[in-house]
Amino acid sequence: MLDNLTQRLAKAVKTMRGEARLTESNTAEMLREVRLALLEADVALPAVREFIGRVKEKAMGEDVIGALSPGQALVGVVQRELAAIMGADLGPEASQLNFATQPPAIILMAGLQGAGKTTTVGKLAKYLREQKKKKVLTVSADVYRPAAIGQLKTVTEQVGADFFPSEITDKPVDIALAALDYAKRHYHDVLIIDTAGRLGIDEAMMQEISAIHAAVKPIETLFVVDAMLGQDAINTAKAFSDALPLTGIVLTKLDGDSRGGAALSVRHITGKPIKFAGVAEKLDGLEAFDPVRMADRILGMGDILALVEEARKGVDMDAAAGLAQKIKVGGKFDLNDFKSQLAQMKKMGGMSNLMDKLPAQLQQAASGANMGMADKQVVRMEGIINSMTPQERAKPDLIKASRKRRIATGAGVQVQEVNRMLAQFDQMQSMMKKLKGGNMMKMMRGMKG
Ligand code: GDP
Repeated sequence: MLDNLTQRLAKAVKTMRGEARLTESNTAEMLREVRLALLEADVALPAVREFIGRVKEKAMGEDVIGALSPGQALVGVVQRELAAIMGADLGPEASQLNFATQPPAIILMAGLQGAGKTTTVGKLAKYLREQKKKKVLTVSADVYRPAAIGQLKTVTEQVGADFFPSEITDKPVDIALAALDYAKRHYHDVLIIDTAGRLGIDEAMMQEISAIHAAVKPIETLFVVDAMLGQDAINTAKAFSDALPLTGIVLTKLDGDSRGGAALSVRHITGKPIKFAGVAEKLDGLEAFDPVRMADRILGMGDILALVEEARKGVDMDAAAGLAQKIKVGGKFDLNDFKSQLAQMKKMGGMSNLMDKLPAQLQQAASGANMGMADKQVVRMEGIINSMTPQERAKPDLIKASRKRRIATGAGVQVQEVNRMLAQFDQMQSMMKKLKGGNMMKMMRGMKG
């Protein structure tokens, strides 16, 4: 996600971080790099201008000039302004869904065809049911594509929410009202209304969705937009936000090789907060949008929080949190940790998914190591670790030739394979060393302050 932008920005800020003195020329040079990186990532020009303007102003301010390490302080400014332009200035509540209404809380979904509306309804229903313990009903007001109604039914059933059937002969407004009536009588907490999208912005589509809006008065009107559309995403968002009183935006397909500009400019252009980001096709691929974390990620800081959150989705939470904590405090990473990591890796959809969330520097370090482990291999590695004694797992240095032979026999593998596993463990351990205590944490602290 946003790899190019991350690489370029990370480079620009890295050079800056080491600067003991800020001069007009080194500041200008960094800002030029940042500006180019943003434009190349398809960030809308007005958003780039505003951002650069604000960073420039702060760079000249006392907080930066007077700081102990001005380069670092300036990087902090870039990070904060990046977060601000994505909505951090609105406060953390801005990205929350609003339920402050007589139930059911109605969420109306708007967007072009193919933006990811129906998928997002499924993801939202799952999120609301599982994380917010809400009783959710979904309905499709898309009477132009019978397949769309079927698709919504499928995803709704997949996540265990309730589905209100509609017919293509019904009128969209009537469908919405009937679903609302049903939701009231069956005590649903939330009603999500999926609507028809066209391929482009279309007057009839706008009128239809405005009519639904007027009839049911949703507390949330979410505009779903495909981040891969680049500048077009911004133009569409603007058109919808002019026509409908949107309360928030869902950016989908942030997992694609999008250049990421939409994430950075859609808030600025529409004035509406980004509430969620779609990061995978599967129905758990939705993240609450957090501008501060997003800014960290874009600057290549990665984030342990995201790793922990990922782990929460069905993995042993205590183990994951324990590991993150260990990394933070610089604890020892032993074979027991490695084993629980292998188990979690399998559940989390593999290493590449995790790698995406690591800081850029670490991604580089790790790509040197052979991390592309197949599931079968993971199972064999687990077998090897299982054949070790608790002491060996806690102190891998104990494992010399005779122990290796015993372990190999126990696991039914060759000694070479034990060696390979231990080598892989070593690589992982040195990766973890880079994460802990030293550089990484200092860098992170520098960014915040
Ligand atoms: P709609 O026409 O707006 O209802 O769009 P759909 O929900 O049918 O989605 C269109 C396509 O985008 C489908 O193939 C989805 O699987 C895919 N899609 C939606 N959201 C995401 C996402 O966050 N990431 C990825 N990779 N694909 C997505």
